[in-house]
Amino acid sequence: MPTVLTIGLLGGMSWESSALYYRLANELVRERLGGLHSARCLLFSVDFADVEELQVSGRWDDAARLLAGASRQLEAAGADLLVLCTNTMHKVADEIAGAVGIPFVHIGDVTAAAVLAAGPRTVGLLGTGFTMEQDFYRDRLTAHGLTVLVPDASDQALVHRVIYAELCLGIISAESRAAYVEVIDRLVAAGAEAVVLACTEIELLIAPDDVAVPLFPTTRLHVEAAVDAALQSS
Ligand code: GLU
Repeated sequence: MPTVLTIGLLGGMSWESSALYYRLANELVRERLGGLHSARCLLFSVDFADVEELQVSGRWDDAARLLAGASRQLEAAGADLLVLCTNTMHKVADEIAGAVGIPFVHIGDVTAAAVLAAGPRTVGLLGTGFTMEQDFYRDRLTAHGLTVLVPDASDQALVHRVIYAELCLGIISAESRAAYVEVIDRLVAAGAEAVVLACTEIELLIAPDDVAVPLFPTTRLHVEAAVDAALQSS
């Protein structure tokens, strides 16, 4: 029987995707260990309204302090590894990882590794405006040798709006799905061989069958990496 570690989920950003993290972690552990096995995990779920206010006002230091404090509480409660359940807040990943003594599973590293293993070298990136526009996330992927294409300004605005006004509120619309597919088509026309869904809610909207190129869903990839780490052999 392997040693099973406790996964610390720092979520609530939004809880719609944290629920997916929780479901996927439990499904993966059941698949791997069988029977009634489920994921050992702790969830610290923040109030997303607080985080969104800090994002919009550019108060990233305050956001880092908030999330570092929550991470320390997860560690104190017994988490063996830390999973920050949002791509955007990886902007302050260094501050969060530095606040704890347990390993931090970086969503960008996990995603880059999955893309590289599958073969593509040029990827389109969909995420919040912060993730697409700023360099913290793109740089993390390019550091692994990937070329990253982002949508143009009006497509970025559309992708961002759907995340905050729909997906984070649990609204899944066929119209927005069709609009995302068109954005993906334009990224493919610009040279993307695959698309990274770098917002943890997007895989609630878009599935592999919706498009012709491979998709890299960051929530699923992040959970797989966390479960791999949690089920490490003794
Ligand atoms: N869950 C989203 C992400 O992966 C967006 C919400 C947030 O801003 O944290 O980036």
